[in-house]
Amino acid sequence: MPRIFFDNASTTPLDPAVAEAVTMAMQELYGNPSSIHAEGRKARNAVEQARKTVAQLLGASIGEIFFTSGGTESSNMVIKNAVRDLGVKRIISSRIEHHCVLHSVEALEKHTNVQVEWVQLDSQGRVNLEHLEALLQGSTAITLVSLMHANNEIGNLLDLHVVGTLCRQYDAYFHSDTVQTIGYYLIDLSTLPIDFITGSAHKFFGPKGTGFVFIRNEAMLRPFIDGGGQERNMRGGTENTPGIIGLAKALELAYEHMVQRRTHIEQLRQLLLTRIQDAFPMAVLYGSPEYGHYKILNVGFPPSPKTDMLLLNLDIAGISVSGGSACTSGADAGSHVIDAIGGLPGWKAVRFSFSHFNTAEEVETAVQALKTCLPSDLLASRWV
Ligand code: PLP
Repeated sequence: MPRIFFDNASTTPLDPAVAEAVTMAMQELYGNPSSIHAEGRKARNAVEQARKTVAQLLGASIGEIFFTSGGTESSNMVIKNAVRDLGVKRIISSRIEHHCVLHSVEALEKHTNVQVEWVQLDSQGRVNLEHLEALLQGSTAITLVSLMHANNEIGNLLDLHVVGTLCRQYDAYFHSDTVQTIGYYLIDLSTLPIDFITGSAHKFFGPKGTGFVFIRNEAMLRPFIDGGGQERNMRGGTENTPGIIGLAKALELAYEHMVQRRTHIEQLRQLLLTRIQDAFPMAVLYGSPEYGHYKILNVGFPPSPKTDMLLLNLDIAGISVSGGSACTSGADAGSHVIDAIGGLPGWKAVRFSFSHFNTAEEVETAVQALKTCLPSDLLASRWV
């Protein structure tokens, strides 16, 4: 029985065309990009071509894109080095950030004299913009705002333009974890008032362990990883040439097919939502239905012994979904995001996340499996 992968927010399968580009790079671009001989120059040219591709697609200049090992490293670099290099004394963030942001901010709060403020969220997890403005107004300390573009668990989208404009108005630096939206939404850094964004190839059908950080020229940082002079002295360590080539190829494909992929995924998400609402009227939707990432659908089911076993039983039925972010779902430790937006105690959050490789038949199969895996009384009337 073929498996059904509805966990594309945790990672995505490698696109066959990307696999081809990565394999070619592994075999043919083995030179060290820092070497001056022919093999080195060939690898260097390919890395710089990849940088140009990423920069052009995002509306950045090539000097503002640095390749890293992924989203976690990129956000650590921005947040920690903004404190070290830009004199940031205060960070405003939210309780539903990915752990790479949340734990970086908490570490700074614990080990330095940086002051941390948490912006208020509503019950759907949307940032309270009035509270954000009040926080920005409330201090003249040099401030970094770090708020994610799309939440990886409930999908909520932030209006980067609105938040960036507020940050500019109050002279705050603005970082957004754009890991879930790069390759899914158009981001034009030439017009967006933002200083830092971060990306990760494995979220858009590229290889794992490779990503990038955009650092605006006016907010340039110093290296996070010291070493050789790689990445124009910004990140020590021999470049991951195959990973970088794969990232650029995957991003190119994501842009080329963005509209078709989106249309297809939106239809699948809507189909699953309708089927779940019909079959399980008591189910709740986590996140904001109007302002959600089209690839993510997070649904809560009421407590019962069968609900507790839901993820496991779906897995046995051949369907991969997640209960939280990938790091926590392994231990099924619940979700800091659902907790932060006041999720119902004991209810089970199930995140379905789609890709263009999924089909409507897979959605129908998943709904049948849900009907088998959940107690029959949950199929009855609306929960009160
Ligand atoms: N930020 C968000 C929103 C994510 O979903 C993830 C991946 O789970 C990350 C950051 C971490 O990215 P990476 O796996 O490349 O370190």
